[in-house]
Amino acid sequence: MDASNGITASNGDTNAEEPQAPSSLSKYSAATQAIHADDYLNRVEDVAPPLHVATTFRYHDDPDQLNPATEESSSLSDRHVYSRHTAPTTTRLEALLTSLLHAPSLTYASGLAALHSAYIFLRPRRIAITAGYHGAHAVLALHCRLTGATLLPLDCPPAALGPGDVIHLETPLNPTGEALSIRHYAAKAHSRGAYLLVDGTFGPPGLQEPFALGADVVMHSGTKYLGGHSDMLCGVLATRREGWVRGLEKERAVMGNVMGGLEGWLGVRSLRTLEVRVRRQSASAGRLVAWLSGALAAEEESAEAEVVRAVVQRVQHASLQEADMAWLREQMPHGFGPVFALSLRSELLARRLPSKLALFHHATSLGGVESLIEWRKMSDTTVDTRLLRVSVGLEGWEDLRADLMAGFRALWEEEKGEEKEERGAREGDGGGIAG
Ligand SMILES: *Cc1c(COP(=O)(O)O)cnc(C)c1O
Repeated sequence: MDASNGITASNGDTNAEEPQAPSSLSKYSAATQAIHADDYLNRVEDVAPPLHVATTFRYHDDPDQLNPATEESSSLSDRHVYSRHTAPTTTRLEALLTSLLHAPSLTYASGLAALHSAYIFLRPRRIAITAGYHGAHAVLALHCRLTGATLLPLDCPPAALGPGDVIHLETPLNPTGEALSIRHYAAKAHSRGAYLLVDGTFGPPGLQEPFALGADVVMHSGTKYLGGHSDMLCGVLATRREGWVRGLEKERAVMGNVMGGLEGWLGVRSLRTLEVRVRRQSASAGRLVAWLSGALAAEEESAEAEVVRAVVQRVQHASLQEADMAWLREQMPHGFGPVFALSLRSELLARRLPSKLALFHHATSLGGVESLIEWRKMSDTTVDTRLLRVSVGLEGWEDLRADLMAGFRALWEEEKGEEKEERGAREGDGGGIAG
């Protein structure tokens, strides 16, 4: 690549000091940054990033250039030393994330590892949180057990919070895909000297910018949209607060909850296409939700709508939060999250629907190119037994609609068949039909 574009610093010199991200990057769109924000870290001629697997890296050849470890520098050398501190492939991933999240970013072995690391670093006495991803509650139960911290409802009175406490805001929410106002909770936290931590897993870059609305720390399960191919575990923390990333990085080097090289490499590969993936997934989810909510509306009279209504009771998604559109359009101007929830009319229907679908895998997790549906009771003990979570992938949305419709129809016919059988059996009892 031509170095005159100002973002390539490569000459293949592996002894060069770690270069700084060029400031010229900011003139580019997010789509361009996703392809080029790590060019300055490219030390080889390869166009595609190489996969580095080394755990340990040679020190400088020149004895005069050797800087012995100090208390401050031990984990934060400009050069790679040992992969529990930093490694080339994950550093490239972090360069991309720093540019896409608009804040210095660190990666972790998983989303929950990132979350736990944030709480170890912040050590809040009180955390305000609502129901959402059950794993976050498991992390907080651990945090409370270790530190004596307590949980408060998300909508506790502001006076219940004090300096250093945390409002934990997941938006959009797992598993319903409904959104909460980042601006509102940022103002509430800051009015008390508390911090707003946003779990933005369901609203990745391209759909939502929590720092623009007041977030102090943004966390992502990179396992979902950032990875996007159901093949890597990853967690991300980003923050603009002075000194926090340095503090977090030092603690991460001690805890050792870093990503592996393969996952870092997969992450770089994946972020190149993040924006097109999530925008397309978001648009498809919006269309499916509009179709379903239209069919559920009492005034829609068609044979198809009748079948949908016989099977589905409710659909939940941010696009249906009509009363919240004033702040929601500001918060998610490019479309809502690609996950929504369906409540079917009975637990049995919810248990059976996944088995009737050809294009949706019945599996947990979300954010990949493959559409997934999960009878949520399989992994979350706290949800209603009729709830299904849908993660829309990159298949054609009309195909997904047809697949869901065929599934609803199969369930509807099965139910009618069972009713008939029951009736037949009752009549059979009375009539004494043998056989
Ligand atoms: C999946 C998920 C997490 C946890 O991420 P892992 O990478 O599985 O550890 C955290 N928050 C939300 C909203 C999630 O969906």
